[in-house]
This record gives sequence, structure tokens and C-alpha cells, in this order.
Amino acid sequence: MRRSRNVKILATLGPASSTAEMIRALFVAGADVFRINMSHTPRDRLAELIAAVRGVERDLGRPIGILADLQGPKLRIGEIAGGETALNAGDVITLDLDAAPAAREKGLLRVPLPHKEIFAVLKPGATLLVDDGRINLQVMEASAARATARVVIGGALKSRKGVNVPDLVLPIAALSPKDRADLDAALHEGVDWIALSFVQKPEDVAEARKIVAGRAGVLAKIEKPSALTSLDGILELADALMVARGDLGVELPLEQVPGRQKHLIRAARKAGKPVVVATQMLESMITSPSPTRAEVSDVATAVFEGADAIMLSAESASGSFPVEAVATMDRIATTVEADRYYRSIIDAQHATPEPTTPDAITAAARQVAETLNLACIVSWTKSGSTGLRAARERPVVPILALTPVETTARRLSIVWGLHCVTTEDAHDLDDMVDRACKLAWRDGFASAGQRIAITAGLPLGTPGATNLLRIAFVGRNQE
Ligand code: PGA
Ligand code: MN
Repeated sequence: MRRSRNVKILATLGPASSTAEMIRALFVAGADVFRINMSHTPRDRLAELIAAVRGVERDLGRPIGILADLQGPKLRIGEIAGGETALNAGDVITLDLDAAPAAREKGLLRVPLPHKEIFAVLKPGATLLVDDGRINLQVMEASAARATARVVIGGALKSRKGVNVPDLVLPIAALSPKDRADLDAALHEGVDWIALSFVQKPEDVAEARKIVAGRAGVLAKIEKPSALTSLDGILELADALMVARGDLGVELPLEQVPGRQKHLIRAARKAGKPVVVATQMLESMITSPSPTRAEVSDVATAVFEGADAIMLSAESASGSFPVEAVATMDRIATTVEADRYYRSIIDAQHATPEPTTPDAITAAARQVAETLNLACIVSWTKSGSTGLRAARERPVVPILALTPVETTARRLSIVWGLHCVTTEDAHDLDDMVDRACKLAWRDGFASAGQRIAITAGLPLGTPGATNLLRIAFVGRNQE
């Protein structure tokens, strides 16, 4: 089975998509990687979900990536007596650490905000956004345990709603105790990617990396202005990025999000690290079998920009049309990639090879393949690093990533343009060429009489040693 597009599709699993049959249907419709959102998935469901994905992987003989998305340091207000209370623009309220439910005291509303990390850095003028920005508060006075704030945008303030603090870097650990436990469970079950929410600084990624210790790729979700400020450092330490437009759109003026999206995709493509565009891509398909024109255009934009992957959240996790949502993304992506402007837009952001042997070889493979109109590029990759560099070239011809390491094939399934195949390590040069031809033929990338480009490293099986480019004929009897 092969896909007819370069961009990959991530589908979030949830109540609408947790059976093996549904996961299989989503994969067949086009989902390449499944996301498990730890904000909504009980830890004891992890093993079952992962077993279901691995079952589909075995049945269909294709590697599938699994990403566990950690909740991160999510901040919330405390309880409101009666569940909710009305806030009007111009009202002045008090916020403090007292856990007692919100109530009016001498006409003044007091709201519990049980996070001393917020008070530690809160300053007059700072903005507090409650309930995805529906309510906007401006801080007037602040101390270590108490603050007063003026209501800028009012509304119904409800118990335990989320709080975003866009202007501040909070002195808060990147991983909460819940995240630590979820992370251990996810690594134990053998997920391929760990996503970190609300990354603020490079050290947050470093902290998670130390625990993950190479057992999975680490993806940094960019959803805070402070992460944009220290993007270079974050990108250096992370294995992948997500443009997490949900929270990013709360923390930044919405109209800045499209430009930030372009910036993040360009930065990730330049670094040769996968980048995922996420949230509300086909939002209306939660309740409708077809998307809006604007949503189709949004998905198309991400594909034109050369993002590695596009993601579905509630559309596949809890919506009424999960399979239709994946199929819709697949159709949009396939059509955009066949558009007459696709190639020139992708090439405009082509990343220059770095002065390393693997980059020189993969760039040459692209050039040779395009000049000779070869059927595909076959890239032998053990750790996955050459596969990433080959994808960074964004070649016109398809790339097969061959690897003896199953976890590499799974991890690379999030990457633009890579068709990953697990196969035993080649035992000599002839075997390396033969196997590349056979697999390219078997999976429908080359037919008899066509030629392919192959990159590999000598001595064979040394990770990161790509130093060889071969052109080979696919024979008449590849069987
Ligand atoms: P979330 O992350 O769905 O976990 O909040 C994505 C986003 O914020 O866009
Ligand atoms: Mn988020």
C-alpha cells in the first residue's frame, strides 16, 4: 500500500475512534500517525489503544507512528460557587491562592487561582485570559499571593476554566506529576513520539529529552509567545515541532497566527525537522460530513508551505465523521500536490545542503533523480537521520526510507514524502542494491525497466555514514 501524497496526516484517537476497526478505517482513509491526547485519555486506556494500532500495523504490513501528547502545565481557576458567575467589562475582581469557591465579599468578587507560580511573576499590566480567551482580565496590582484585576472582556466565568498568561514566562516545571506518570506509561508502551505542551524555553525540551533518553522522538508544541522568542534553542533540542494553533491563537492576537505558522514551517524545514500544523483544520466536520471552503483553503495552505504533517483533533477523536475527515484531508492534500503552483512554492523554500557528506549525497540523489527522471530515491537509513535529510530536499520523486530498525520506520512515518519500509540490514553491496530495487518494485514505486537512485553508507550498517549514491535498473523479474 502506498500513499499518493507527500504530506502526512495525523489523526487524534478518542471516543469516536478507539476500536481496532475504526483505527484500521482511519489508516486506510489516509491517517499515517495516530495521536493520543493525554488530557483526555485515561492512562489505563493507553495499552489497549496502542495494541489496537499495532494490530492494524501487523495486518496491513505498514509502519504506523504513535504520538502521545502530554497535557503539560495547564493552569486553571478554582471553583465558582454555583458553577458560574457573570463578569462585566469594567468590574474589578480579586484573585488569590485561597481554595475556597469564588464569592462576592463586600461587593467585590474574589476568584481562586490556585497557582503560586502565576503570582510569583504577575505584574500590573499583564493579561490573564480565561476560558480560551473568552474572558480577558488586566492585572492592576499584584503580590505573591493576591492580585486585583479589571475585566476587559466579560462573560460567564465558570469553575475550573483554563487560564493563559501570554505575557509572562512562568517559573513552572515543563512536566507536571501527571505528565511524568503519563510519559512513563507511554514510553513503557513503546510510543514513537512524545509531544510536550506549553513549552516555554529550551530547558523544557532538555528536561523531557533527558527522561525520554532516545526511546521516542520529542516534539515541542509551539503555543506560547515565549516559545517563539526562544525558537532557535527549542528547535535545536526538539526532534519536531507542532504549530499548536489552538492555544497559540489564545495567547497571540489571532491575526498573527498565519504569519507565525509560515515562520515555524520555514524554520523547521531549514533545520530538517518535521513540523505538524494542528487544530481546527476541518473543525466543522466534527458535526458535518463536508468541510467549509475556508477550512479546505487552510489545509491547502499548510500543504503548499511544505509542512510535514497536518492534524485532526476533535474531528477524528470525538466528531461524527472521523473517516470522512481523514478522507477529506487526503483529497485536499493530493489535489494541492498536483497543482501547477505546488512545486514552485515548495522549491522557493528549498533548504541549502549543509557541508556534510550525507547532505551532499542526498542533494546529489535528488538532482540525479530529477535530471534522469528516475522512478524514486531509495534511502537506507538506520537511525533515521539520512531519511530526514532526504525529505529536507523535498524532491519531486518519491523517497523510500529503508531501515532495519522498526522504531525508525515508525518514527519517520510523520515525515514529508517518506514511504518507510522495515527490512533486514543489507549484507553486502549487491544485496543493498537488489533489495532497494525489489522493495521499490513491490510497493509500486518503480516498474521493470525503470531506474532508481539509491543512497547508503559504507561500511554497511554504520549509522549516519551515508556516503554512496548508486543508480540501478529495476529488472524484469524482481520476484
Ligand atoms: P491541544 O494542543 O489540543 O493539546 O490544546 C493543540 C493546540 O493548542 O492547538
Ligand atoms: Mn494546546
